[in-house]
Amino acid sequence: ESKLQLVQRHIRAFPDFPQQGILFRDICPILKDPAALTAVIDLFEDHVRKNHQQLDLIVGLDARGFLFGPLLAQRLGLGFVLVRKKGKLPGTTVSVAYDLEYGKAEVEIQEDAVAPGQKVLLIDDLLATGGTLHAACELMEKLQAQIAGCLVVIELQELKGADKLKPHRVFSLLRY
Ligand code: 5GP
Repeated sequence: ESKLQLVQRHIRAFPDFPQQGILFRDICPILKDPAALTAVIDLFEDHVRKNHQQLDLIVGLDARGFLFGPLLAQRLGLGFVLVRKKGKLPGTTVSVAYDLEYGKAEVEIQEDAVAPGQKVLLIDDLLATGGTLHAACELMEKLQAQIAGCLVVIELQELKGADKLKPHRVFSLLRY
């Protein structure tokens, strides 16, 4: 069994969650299996070492980006910083609001989390419409970071999130 097959075997799909008509991809079984979690980080690490040089930071998205980001950052010898949902971070913050299917959301980062010119790679569990990662990229631009790209475990291709993130590159382990 390949590392990718091992990862794929640890993703479940739940129909009609959190709303009717949505097929939710659940990554919790990956976290429950040390070999599957190691495989995720191995695959990300291989990709980053082959495709990115001179990174400064891994930027993780609230909340499931926090599960994979610090492990990857440690492997690469990089620091990890958090993009959070609004209202969770102390000190001076910068925020970006974005539209959801119903209503609005806002992501936030500490102003000193990334220095101007630092090269960052963003990470989350899943790319759907791209709204969340797009807002996080806008945050990085506000802090004058250089965006090297985005990493996700799962990409839902029909929602065209990768197009929304252009010109930034998205690397996904699995596409549905
Ligand atoms: P987007 O902003 O790309 O439409 O949605 C992506 C965000 O919503 C990510 O932060 C992701 O964690 C969450 N999300 C949306 N759909 C799913 C799903 O089916 N499974 C998981 N695990 N997360 C989802």
